[in-house]
Amino acid sequence: MVVFCDGPCMRLSTITNWAYGATVALTLASGGTMLLAASAQERERDAVEQRYRLDKATSRLGSEVYALSDHARQYLNTGDPTYKVVYGHDLEGLATVEQRIDHIDDAGASANELALLENAVRQADTLHDEQILAIDAFEAGNETVARQILFGAEYERQLDQVQALIVRFQDLLDRRTERTVQAATEVARLWKTVSEIVIAITGILFLCVLYFIFKQRVLRPVVKLSDIVGRLAEQDYTTELPDIDQIDEIGDMAKAVRIFRENGLERQRLEAERDVDLATQNRLLSMTQRMQSCDTLDDLLYVVKSFIPSITPGHAGRLYLLEDQRNAMVASCDWLGPRHSASEFPPSACWALRRGLPHRPANGNVDVPCHHLRLEGSKAPDTLCLPITAQGERLGLLYLEARDDETEKSTISEVYLNMLVENIALALANLRLSDALREMAMVDALTGLANRHRLDETLTTQAARLAREGKSLSCLMIDIDHFKRFNDKHGHEAGDLVLQEVGGVLKSSVRETERAFRYGGEEFLLLLPEVNVDAAARRAEEIRAKIAALQTTHIGKDLGTITVSVGVATAPEHCHVGVLVPTADAVLLKAKRNGRDRVEIAQLLQDHKTAG
Ligand code: GH3
Ligand code: MG
Ligand code: MG
Repeated sequence: MVVFCDGPCMRLSTITNWAYGATVALTLASGGTMLLAASAQERERDAVEQRYRLDKATSRLGSEVYALSDHARQYLNTGDPTYKVVYGHDLEGLATVEQRIDHIDDAGASANELALLENAVRQADTLHDEQILAIDAFEAGNETVARQILFGAEYERQLDQVQALIVRFQDLLDRRTERTVQAATEVARLWKTVSEIVIAITGILFLCVLYFIFKQRVLRPVVKLSDIVGRLAEQDYTTELPDIDQIDEIGDMAKAVRIFRENGLERQRLEAERDVDLATQNRLLSMTQRMQSCDTLDDLLYVVKSFIPSITPGHAGRLYLLEDQRNAMVASCDWLGPRHSASEFPPSACWALRRGLPHRPANGNVDVPCHHLRLEGSKAPDTLCLPITAQGERLGLLYLEARDDETEKSTISEVYLNMLVENIALALANLRLSDALREMAMVDALTGLANRHRLDETLTTQAARLAREGKSLSCLMIDIDHFKRFNDKHGHEAGDLVLQEVGGVLKSSVRETERAFRYGGEEFLLLLPEVNVDAAARRAEEIRAKIAALQTTHIGKDLGTITVSVGVATAPEHCHVGVLVPTADAVLLKAKRNGRDRVEIAQLLQDHKTAG
């Protein structure tokens, strides 16, 4: 397998081993060159020592020549036989020429030098013959001849020649020694220089390795990493990691830090998701609690409108409620301005309502868009329709659409959407149920008319409003005449039937803004807003006539004519609205007193004053 490496690839330990090896090799090389320099110096020393030995041997040779010559001459000059004895002793002690040359050869002289020296020694030996000849002549009494031999010019010349040969030998020796010493010195200097260079290279290499490893490869990345580790320890995972891709221990550390950061980021992401999840759950819970406490639809819609934007972020929406009578889905509230859905449409226009399942035509799904959507261009908007049903009954529709201006589309968990819709459905069902119960509590079961509770409620709202607006409110108090007789004569059920018949007439006599109430027992009450005194009197008379015209039978028996007495009062013409019902009741009593089956009108306030 081939591994490509863009960054530094060598591990620190490898670099260290290489550097160590190179340092050891260079140190050994340096030691070697130092040894070579030392050996060159040794050679230099040897050359000097050899020169010294040869000098010594040569000077001995020369002194021997001069000593014999001196002894012989002293003997001639003094006649002292001691000199002759010494001379003879020295001469006998002289080794042969070869022996003396060998001695010098052993000391290290070259062949040329030896040849020169041998020549000098042989010439010195010829002087011995002349010395012996002179001593013999001296002893024979021929002192003059003896002197001519030893002190003559020829003898001096030969002596000088020997001396010159020895000097020349020494000169050769000097020059050779000097050359050898010079060569050895140069070699020693060369090796010394090489050794110094190698030491310098070793030092530089060491420093480079130190610089490279500790600064470039260790110090710099470690400083960066330690800074990042510090930030990561403070849970700041946004910090960017430097590009450390070296394959070594620092690279391993960087990799570990990178993994640590990625884990941290992942953990943060999960925590953020969990927080969002938790927040959504809390909002859903709060919304559900608030919805459960709603008494009216307006309250419920307000709660829905307030909570949904935070539960479905990034989405505009609308809540539609089914209006049974018109069979229409009607927008009841919306949030963040939904743009694509009509505010009212038949349930058949929505695929979600048709199928009873969530419908999302966009968002990567190939599906048909609902007919209540306004499509702009060919692309279907990202919408979601969620049917709201309770106990199999269709209640409404939750419509959501992704906002175009949202850069980051937020996805809503299907589980939470289902919970949301179920909670809304439950709240709507509860509200309907409580409305139905309240309605039931406000309705008289026998006649189907509103009861006295509803009268109180209507009076407080309607009477106050009409009074504020300065409009009339008429009240018709109706009591069935001698009702007890129906009970007594035909039974209680017949009495109930009479009550239902009268109630039916009253129900059919009121207009949209008016309402009929069963006030209690066989007493009824009509509230006619914006109906003046005359109109109220007319309406009362009409009702009385309608009831009187009823033909009621019970179990085949004719119950006879039903008559009613009616007391009419109008606020503010007859009284203050707060005493409208007692005023009408009082007028009713008057009708009873005046013979029943009649309509009595309250006295106008101004007539009261006139009478007063
Ligand atoms: P008046 O002309 O003076 O009004 O005489 P009345 O008989 O109509 O009035 P009264 O107050 O004497 O009698 C009312 C009766 O109505 C008494 C009660 O038993 C009867 N009643 C009250 N509520 C009902 C009901 O729901 N059904 C039946 N069948 N009778 C009822
Ligand atoms: Mg009565
Ligand atoms: Mg009555």
